[in-house]
Amino acid sequence: MIYLKMDDLAPFTHTPVDDIPGIHDRITRTFHTHTTRILQYRLKQLRSLYWGLKDEEPALTEALKLDLGKSAYEAYMSEIGWCLNDILFVCKNLEAWMKDEAAPDMPLMNMLMRPRIRKDPLGAVLIIGAYNFPYMLALGPLIGAIASGCTAVLKPSENAPNSARIMQHIIEQSLSSDAYEVVQGGIPETTALLEQKWDKIFYTGNVGVGKIIAKKAAETLTPVTLELGGRNPAIVSKHADPRLAARRLLWAKLFNAGQVCVSQNYVLVDKEVLPAFMHELGEALREFQPQGAKDNDDYSHIVNERQWSRLKSLLDSTKGKIIYGGHTDQDSLLFEPTVVQVESADDPLVREESFGPLVPILPVQDLEEAIRTANEVHATPLALYTFGSKADNAKVLAETRSGGATMNDAIFHASMPTLAFGGVGDSGQGAYRGMASFDCFTHRRSVTQTPGWMEGLLNVRYPPYTAEKSKK
Ligand code: NAD
Repeated sequence: MIYLKMDDLAPFTHTPVDDIPGIHDRITRTFHTHTTRILQYRLKQLRSLYWGLKDEEPALTEALKLDLGKSAYEAYMSEIGWCLNDILFVCKNLEAWMKDEAAPDMPLMNMLMRPRIRKDPLGAVLIIGAYNFPYMLALGPLIGAIASGCTAVLKPSENAPNSARIMQHIIEQSLSSDAYEVVQGGIPETTALLEQKWDKIFYTGNVGVGKIIAKKAAETLTPVTLELGGRNPAIVSKHADPRLAARRLLWAKLFNAGQVCVSQNYVLVDKEVLPAFMHELGEALREFQPQGAKDNDDYSHIVNERQWSRLKSLLDSTKGKIIYGGHTDQDSLLFEPTVVQVESADDPLVREESFGPLVPILPVQDLEEAIRTANEVHATPLALYTFGSKADNAKVLAETRSGGATMNDAIFHASMPTLAFGGVGDSGQGAYRGMASFDCFTHRRSVTQTPGWMEGLLNVRYPPYTAEKSKK
């Protein structure tokens, strides 16, 4: 087999804004033909997408290398393999998920009316992706939309243009073009898309744009799922294993060079274990990157100059002390993993989401101070990590909020096909993954059915409400 290369594809081109109403009309009209609701249709699309991805694995990997310098290992683990597994999981369970759900036991009179919940697709939906995991964050929701019987327009992030190109190619080759389309572009194109009436909008990205989407959707009462940003705390208590905590938390920042919405934004470390934890961070860094970060094939670069400059300014603004790393190179968009010991929770490295390989460490007196600080910095982060004894971890969970949490590790709660993934408060609303992706694009339609023969039992409801009827 001759594999496609990125050079074989047309360059990244924005979809003409004038084409957008027509695309919306086509996708909406297809939904109203009801063909996309049929189980076999959904399975056929999902299987075809599976093979489209599988066949173009080399080009998918190459595109991620071009956009983010992502290693083939990470590309498979968190993007290509992730999407393939999600499709398999959905295909295996779809028929069962689509079945009507009977209402829980009720009095006999109600049960005779067969109360149940139908799973209806929401309709024609818009999915807007982000650049850091361009496949998972765009195709993940698309898999959910197809599974639930919706039609969809996908708008990948223009900040990962090569990944956007290959996704468009695969979607055009694999899926029904009258039901699933890709629109390419940035703000003008997304703004034009938001002018259309959708049955649902699914957005992944930063909080500021999340508010724009929510406001626009509110004008037409369009439901939204918003997968927003981080500022996630990690807490290392005095009972934690400093080596384990250091290795696992460092990994969460090396992964995709920290451009991960669920990696920790800052680490609150009990003073008692601080020296050991700092030492172990250094050891782990030397072990994970023996030749350093530069020219390291396993280590991603920052996506573009704008994000690189933002990160650099953030690092320059800290009053903390750089303990490891700090080297950067604008030409290659390199940003070394950089551990900074900060003095206060007001430090910009703690307050602002870095979305990069910065590891600010704030020493705390005890677990109480760690919990207080985490709640004060951001009451509803997307994720939270806690390292300590069972009791420590239970206390942290009981006294904080977050979209999800992992104990004694980082990120893992976001990797389970049977766990819904999403934020809480201003880190997002709604969730997806596996069955949650199906639910996300499904309307749970309550249905009852009154048999004609029940008329004798039910005619008590009709006026006039005589005294005799009141007695019954
Ligand atoms: P991005 O630059 O890729 O933008 C995301 C999407 O928003 C793109 O498709 C872009 O075209 C669109 N967009 C940008 N400006 C817009 C506007 N004015 N109107 C309409 N659409 C617009 O990515 P980003 O937003 O910089 O992503 C980083 C942020 O996203 C971080 O805060 C991160 O934590 C968050 N994030 C969250 C998740 C999650 O699952 N919760 C996943 C990834 C990233």
